Amino acid sequence: MKKIAVIGGGINGLCSAWALAKAGYAVTLYERDQIMRATSAASTKLLHGGLRYLEQGDFRLVREALRERAWWLSQVPEITQTIELVLPIYEDSQRGRWLPKLGLWLYDRLAGQHNIAPHRWCSSSELHRLAPTLKSQGLRGGFIFYDGQMDDYQLGLWVAEQARAAGVKIIEQQAVKRIQPDGTVEISTLRLKYDSLVNVTGPWAVSLLAESQLSSHYQLDLVRGSHILFNRPMERGYFLAVPGERRICFVLPYQGKTLVGTTEVRHSFPQPIKCSEAEANYLLKVYNAYFTETVNEIDESFSGVRPLIQSATDPSKTTREYALETQGRIVTVYGGKWTTARALGQKVANTVQTMLCK
Ligand SMILES: Cc1cc2nc3c(=O)[nH]c(=O)nc-3n(C[C@H](O)[C@H](O)[C@H](O)COP(=O)(O)OP(=O)(O)OC[C@H]3O[C@@H](n4cnc5c(N)ncnc54)[C@H](O)[C@@H]3O)c2cc1C
Repeated sequence: MKKIAVIGGGINGLCSAWALAKAGYAVTLYERDQIMRATSAASTKLLHGGLRYLEQGDFRLVREALRERAWWLSQVPEITQTIELVLPIYEDSQRGRWLPKLGLWLYDRLAGQHNIAPHRWCSSSELHRLAPTLKSQGLRGGFIFYDGQMDDYQLGLWVAEQARAAGVKIIEQQAVKRIQPDGTVEISTLRLKYDSLVNVTGPWAVSLLAESQLSSHYQLDLVRGSHILFNRPMERGYFLAVPGERRICFVLPYQGKTLVGTTEVRHSFPQPIKCSEAEANYLLKVYNAYFTETVNEIDESFSGVRPLIQSATDPSKTTREYALETQGRIVTVYGGKWTTARALGQKVANTVQTMLCK
């Protein structure tokens, strides 16, 4: 049996290991900390196609993510659920009414048979009944649409359980120091040989290659995203344009609280991955711009670093697509969304299979 090492125990590493084990390989996954403690547990908790990526023309990604959204919702109903989202339109909304309408029409079409339910328009009075705390001055109405929501940490542990059941050996608290194109993995003083290595260390993918004296064709834009939580129950989710910007923020019900996110701030290691005061204030400002009950204090915050491929002057314009690169026996994963992790894992398994057949 061919031996594969997967490096990184986030959702992309776990899904890759699971797919490789199902394809018949002996898989060992190395995680330097504990599985599901980095980016994959600091997401907005949405299983979504990503309505806003349509503006960037990422149709392939959105279609794949919508199909994957349906898979998670149907296969793991105990940790996932559908969520109703409101996209309010005000007299001064930058995108007006027709651009969101077009986006939602396309979103429904791209979901096809996997759609949860079609979007619909709500008048301002209907919206006021549905969402009484939403500011009503200048409100023209809003769209209602649907996506998926998850407990990202628990869903990741569910994937780890499936991977273990398929034969994956998960080793935590074991950092990989270096990897080599001949299949060597260096761990503390050990040098272990594998038939193939998968570098799926998320935001650290390029650093692991650099520490191994290997170059990469892709560059990662590291963009920190923070969320705040406060103790206020929310009845539904909101997709909100940040006043004066093209950016979007979500206000979501999450485990009895309100979750607001996210920010986009360039990040560099070893800077700590945590929500700054400026980010918390930014998110509070967005919330208070839309809701009548002002919030001044937060209960919790958390942050993650997006490993986005391709450089751009504006981080919000960087693609959420993912890419695989092969160097000798190493497959490196760049980027990737939570929702599409299972599809990415399958592509990793196919790439390894092709490599080992040569
Ligand atoms: C703020 C934010 C919000 C997001 N919201 C959503 C969302 O709502 N929906 C969605 O679909 N996507 C979302 N995403 C994207 C998604 O969360 C990430 O793309 C995904 O979690 C990345 O997973 P990963 O496994 O590649 O990386 P990670 O989860 O970071 O895992 C990488 C792992 O590699 C380990 N590692 C690193 N170096 C080594 C080493 N040398 N040896 C061993 N282990 C190592 C790390 O400890 C870590 O556990 C969001 C991302 C961010 C940042």
